[in-house]
Amino acid sequence: MAQDYYELLGVAKDASPEEIKKAYRKLARQHHPDANPDNKAAEEKFKEISQAYEVLSDTKKRSDYDNGVRFFGAGGPGGGPGAGQDYGAGFGGFNAGGFDFGDIFDMFSGGGGRPRGRGPERGRDIQYNLRLNFDDAVNGTAVRIDVAHEVDCKTCNATGAKPGTSPKACPACGGRGVVSNTQGFFSIQQPCHNCAGTGQIIEEPCPDCGGRARVNVTENLTVKIPAGVENGSTIRVKGKGEAGLRGGPAGDLYVVTQVAPHKYFRRDHADVWLDLPVTYPELALGAKISVPTLTGHVTLKVPAGSQADQVLRVGGKGAPRLRGLGRGDMFVKLTVVVPAKLSAEEKELLTKLTKASPEDIRKGLK
Ligand SMILES: [Zn+2]
Ligand SMILES: [Zn+2]
Repeated sequence: MAQDYYELLGVAKDASPEEIKKAYRKLARQHHPDANPDNKAAEEKFKEISQAYEVLSDTKKRSDYDNGVRFFGAGGPGGGPGAGQDYGAGFGGFNAGGFDFGDIFDMFSGGGGRPRGRGPERGRDIQYNLRLNFDDAVNGTAVRIDVAHEVDCKTCNATGAKPGTSPKACPACGGRGVVSNTQGFFSIQQPCHNCAGTGQIIEEPCPDCGGRARVNVTENLTVKIPAGVENGSTIRVKGKGEAGLRGGPAGDLYVVTQVAPHKYFRRDHADVWLDLPVTYPELALGAKISVPTLTGHVTLKVPAGSQADQVLRVGGKGAPRLRGLGRGDMFVKLTVVVPAKLSAEEKELLTKLTKASPEDIRKGLK
């Protein structure tokens, strides 16, 4: 029973941590209880090598062991040579309690069923930046885009195994994806190194995905862009992100819109702004001016006595509201344009106008 740990693992006393790990993995695969059902000898052997590995894989414990310290575990107390210090709570491990690995695992995982590998994992979301012109953002459109993403491999039905074969439960962890290092009453779970925590071993990988269960494809998708999107609006396309892992759902694709500026309209959410060039006489006398809107021209009435930079509202002529009904408004800012050059006639009229103006516009500054 009290076999030397180095002998148990079949390694030299000065074996490197790598060599110890390699030896343990090989033996654990061979002797795991799940790979040898109802084989007491294999089970016993597995416990022994696990105990040996637990000690020799830990620098501190290995050094203690080399100095004559003996540990309780698979062999039970009292088997070791010498009267070294004992580790653990002295519960007596498997023999005294009558536990097997599965019992201990269940005890510490809340008593539920034995988990099989790591659970399903949702695929990653991906983002696609879509440039839109101003009108398409206002009116909505459908665009075709090429999205590079990972999808489930159809050849192997996302198993990663060559068609006609299937993944096997990992013999080192019995398909659990974790291994329990048990010392006395306590059990420490670690991801299984043999299967990288997946609980499965693929003996013959699928030729198309090389065992990854997923393949990279560029998919041409049609994405409907609703009317009224703005710079930075996000459209979610469900399930078009990266494929999930181990049966998990795919992530989503987020299309983020970047709207090009318009020649003269500006967006403020559902509202639209327009700078309208006007003359001083148009402001003073009032005017009816044809102005563009998102849906054709309308006649805007500029009231007599309007001021420079005054803003007029044209109701319901904005962009469609992305959330909610109807449209925003259009706001027209009256921007006075002063002629840089005057004809002789204009000059004469303006001179007359200046002389005729009775109102002192700068009286407030006196
Ligand atoms: Zn495949
Ligand atoms: Zn494993």
